[in-house]
Parts: sequence; C-alpha cells; structure tokens
Amino acid sequence: MVIILGFLFGSVLGSFAKAIADRSLSQRSFGGRSYCSHCKKTLRWYDLFPILSYLILRGRCRYCHTLIGLDYPLTEVILGFIMALFLSQTTVQFTDSADPFKITLFIMGLIFNIFVIVVLYIVALTDIRKMLIPDRVILPSIGIGFIALLVIYLTKYLLFPVWLTVEPFVRSVAAGLGIGLFFATLIIITKGRGMGGGDVKLGAFIGLSLGFPNSLVALMLAFLTGAIVSIFLILFKRKHFGQTIPFGPFLVLGSYISLLWGRQIVDWYLRLSI
Ligand SMILES: [Zn+2]
Repeated sequence: MVIILGFLFGSVLGSFAKAIADRSLSQRSFGGRSYCSHCKKTLRWYDLFPILSYLILRGRCRYCHTLIGLDYPLTEVILGFIMALFLSQTTVQFTDSADPFKITLFIMGLIFNIFVIVVLYIVALTDIRKMLIPDRVILPSIGIGFIALLVIYLTKYLLFPVWLTVEPFVRSVAAGLGIGLFFATLIIITKGRGMGGGDVKLGAFIGLSLGFPNSLVALMLAFLTGAIVSIFLILFKRKHFGQTIPFGPFLVLGSYISLLWGRQIVDWYLRLSI
C-alpha cells in the first residue's frame, strides 16, 4: 500500500520537478500554467496526470498531436520508484509510538527529506540536460533547508534540552561548509576542469541536508560511480580523458543511496575497519 501510494506521490513530484527544471533552464517564471511547447496551448488539468495522460494521449499533444518526449513519463516513473522505496523504508523505521511530539518530529523530518529528494532531482535533470545547476533552484534550496533544519532542531531542543539534541544540526552546517569549501578548493587546483561553481553549491546543500556522516558517504559514492562511468566512457571512446561530464548527477545518485542505506553503509564500513 505504502509502495503504491509512494509511487503515485513520487510521479506527481516528478512531473513537478520536470516543470521546474525546464522552466529554470529556459528562464521562464516558476508560476503559471503548463502549455504545449509546440502549439503553446495551455494544458487542462486532465492533461497533467503523471504517466496516465501520456499513455491515454499515446504520447502526443491533445491539440496539435505533436509527439511529446519520452522524457516526461520517464522522469515521473523514476521519481515514483525512488519515492516508493524511500517511503516504504521510512515508515518501517517508524515504530508504534503514540507520543504526539515524536509523531510531529517524524513528520517534520519526513517532509524535509522529501524536499531534499525533489531538489536533488531537479538539479540532476538540469545538470544532465545542460550541464548547469541553476542558482534560481539551488540557492533558495540552501536557504530553505537551513531554516527548516533550524526549526526542526529547535523543536527537538525544546523537548530535550541537552547538547546532544542539537549536535547533529551543528554537524550538518559544518558538513555543508566543509563540502562546499572542499569543492571550491578542487576547482582552484584543477583550474575549473571537471567541476563548476554549481557543484560547490550542490555540495553545500548535500552536506547541510544529509549531515555527517551521511553526506560523506554520498560524496564517496559520487566519486566512485563517477570514476566507473568515466572509465567506461573512455574505454568505449565516447569521451576523451578530461572531457567533462556533469558531476551533479553522481552527487545526486550518491545522496539517494546514502539517504536510503546510509546507516547500513556506515555500520558496514566501521565493522570493516575494526
Ligand atoms: Zn500542442
């Protein structure tokens, strides 16, 4: 049940993320109704059902019958799967607590993580298409993320006024600053090859929202998957060495894996090093 609802919810968010990604790349306003990019006709509410509308209209615009790209339903399906996976995992962690404060905190944390997943998804979409992480998306997200975390941890502190309660918040802010600075240093050393200013802001966002040590896990996974894909691209002569492929999507992939299995990965790593 959670899986089906999570999938539907995720596909709606996927449709939303695609709209924001497209609009931020074409400098259009985030508000206003969606329209067909070919005939400019405003789409009706029944044209906007994720996946379903695409299937019913057989991938064409209802009005001018121009083919709609397969990327629309694909974007929706992928975020649907991610959200189904995330929600089914998170709700398992939530044991039968009747404490209203604990439930409130759980819901706040859940909404925060959904926000993080959607922001990362938008960034991955724009970075894959245009190798660009729009300031219009990532800067407000860092601001909103910071304020949201502040509110969550202040609430926790009011309930349990000990240092231990706010320690993760301090670690999150430190991780955000740390990763941002680390990427900025890499850019200076490599003279801007391989990484751009967008990655600095994305790194800061990931550090802030995943905290420590999960953001570090995300970073490791990003470098690992990025290296593997680069080697394959070079082997199959799709790219020359040093030719840039966007790093953002790997950071997003690493963050998703870390959000889903971060704790297990850290446990596994700690057991290895003992
Ligand atoms: Zn049309």
